[in-house]
Amino acid sequence: MFCIAIANQKGGVGKTTSAINLGTALAASGHRVLLIDVDPQGNASTGLGIGHALRTRSSYDVLIDAGGLDQAVVHTAVPKLDIVPATVDLSGAEIELVELDQRTHRLHMALEQSRGEWDIVLIDCPPSLGLLTINAMVAADALLVPLQCEFFALEGLSQLLSTVERIRARFNPALSILGVALTMYDRRNRLTEQVSSDVRAVLGKVVFETVIPRNVRLSEAPSHGLPALIYDHRCSGSEAYMALARELIVRLPKVEAEVAA
Ligand code: ADP
Ligand code: MG
Repeated sequence: MFCIAIANQKGGVGKTTSAINLGTALAASGHRVLLIDVDPQGNASTGLGIGHALRTRSSYDVLIDAGGLDQAVVHTAVPKLDIVPATVDLSGAEIELVELDQRTHRLHMALEQSRGEWDIVLIDCPPSLGLLTINAMVAADALLVPLQCEFFALEGLSQLLSTVERIRARFNPALSILGVALTMYDRRNRLTEQVSSDVRAVLGKVVFETVIPRNVRLSEAPSHGLPALIYDHRCSGSEAYMALARELIVRLPKVEAEVAA
């Protein structure tokens, strides 16, 4: 099992859209995927059509109990894609966790105890660097960072990277950066081109070749409770997420590639 936290403390950069559509693309390529929604907004849960009635146990319970993950898993309409949904209770969890033992390791503990058999676990993080994101980074093997090509993109990134350094030093020395994905890419916009070449110059190979275009189908799909890859598998956004998934698979440890074969 390889666990990837999808993180960036900025909101609206494409974390959830990437979690849903990469999850779907990876499942479509034969991987057993679990998506854990740890954003109190629960957009990944809603976007995968998981209504509130289905969220009897949620990532909130998993974090508070530091266990019971398997009991919180819900199957989605996508074969091989499961989810641990989020509920609004999570918005209080940042504060409640402070009082608990092992407050940074509760998701990690829950995953360790789980008997579930997934090849890849994706964690959709909230737009902050608080305890929910820290729990995700402690539990994860690697980080995937969606980056919107806008003026302050790199500035936000340095804050994220210093958090990663702290997590490595204190809790999870093996945490790696699997890749940075440029999102909402608009080829007609000169700023996009400028920011993207700056980002590639500074970060180098860690930036995925594939860019995710700005594509209205990607933003429409969640209101139908479907991944874009099912809502319209031929739109440019869906094709880009399929390509990103292929690039991502190559970066996974060998063992994972063999599972897929
Ligand atoms: P985050 O999880 O980082 O807050 P989201 O994935 O929820 O970001 O994206 C923010 C908004 O932008 C959502 O309304 C989403 O549908 C839309 N969006 C995300 N990626 C794209 C894209 N590539 N093209 C068009 N709209 C997008
Ligand atoms: Mg989100």
